[in-house]
Amino acid sequence: MSDNFKVKNMDINKLKIAIQKTGRLTDKTVELLKKCGLSFELYKETLTVNCTNFPLELLMLRDDDIPNYVGNGIAQLGICGENLVLEKEADVTVLKRLNFGHCSLTIAVPNNSACKEISNLNGKKIATSYPNILAKFLKKENIKAEVIKICGSAEISPNLGLSDAIFDLVSTGGTLKSNGLKPFYTVLQSEAVLICLPGKENDDIISQLLFRISSVMKAEQNKYVVLNIEKENISKIIELLPGLKSPTVVPLAEEGWVALHSVIPETDFWEKINKLKDAGAQGILVISAEKMII
Ligand code: ATP
Ligand code: ZN
Repeated sequence: MSDNFKVKNMDINKLKIAIQKTGRLTDKTVELLKKCGLSFELYKETLTVNCTNFPLELLMLRDDDIPNYVGNGIAQLGICGENLVLEKEADVTVLKRLNFGHCSLTIAVPNNSACKEISNLNGKKIATSYPNILAKFLKKENIKAEVIKICGSAEISPNLGLSDAIFDLVSTGGTLKSNGLKPFYTVLQSEAVLICLPGKENDDIISQLLFRISSVMKAEQNKYVVLNIEKENISKIIELLPGLKSPTVVPLAEEGWVALHSVIPETDFWEKINKLKDAGAQGILVISAEKMII
């Protein structure tokens, strides 16, 4: 078969990544791939998008289809919610959790429900578009409840008398509230994940992309800090800012002073900044890092 063989504009020899065409994950997914240095242009209604500077093609799909497209090898990579990977029970490898698209799969009940503990779900009807995850959970907890499979808008089913509870994705809880429901039990915390076709984990292009994604994510989790300090206080500051290996120290024009460059994890950023000030740091400059290669 020729290297240039194409089916409906799809180069079947090129590595493909399936991503959500339009939805909650689309913007962040595209942003991540662009931050990885991939160059491509999205056009409405196109199924395939070519990267011009990396051997990869984007397949623009409904999120529900992504796990199976990857599991069947039509795409070798995909980005979708972990919720769908588990629900579709597709044979894929999760390469990386991507720290966006956070939501939970939660059982919710009407505000006036008498349910207090999960055993109270025995004999109840639960509507969901995630029947597989729910059935597994009920089995594990030894609860005999009826799973009513629906496609979307589970939140209206208790009001319509179709079910006693629902099992659905929740992020802020606003939709539950406006339908007179309250969260009852969270079964799964989900986020977007990078998945691949089993056996492709060590593919060269996939490893390169994973390396770029990891570098972008590490940079997002850290801040680059530059500050001035009197030489005599250096050891106190180095204790607070160990840096990647050790901080960079550069002499200032003013005698007795140095500038110190280091990296702080985003998680304890404010706590560290206050401690640095207390230790005598001045002129603290905080810069977002674009990529971190370590
Ligand atoms: P599609 O047209 O691609 O089938 P969809 O309407 O099924 O889209 P979206 O609502 O765009 O899907 O959600 C995509 C993913 O975003 C979910 O599978 C989930 O992983 C994640 N997500 C994050 N927060 C929420 C939320 N509050 N509700 C639903 N999904 C959420
Ligand atoms: Zn969907």
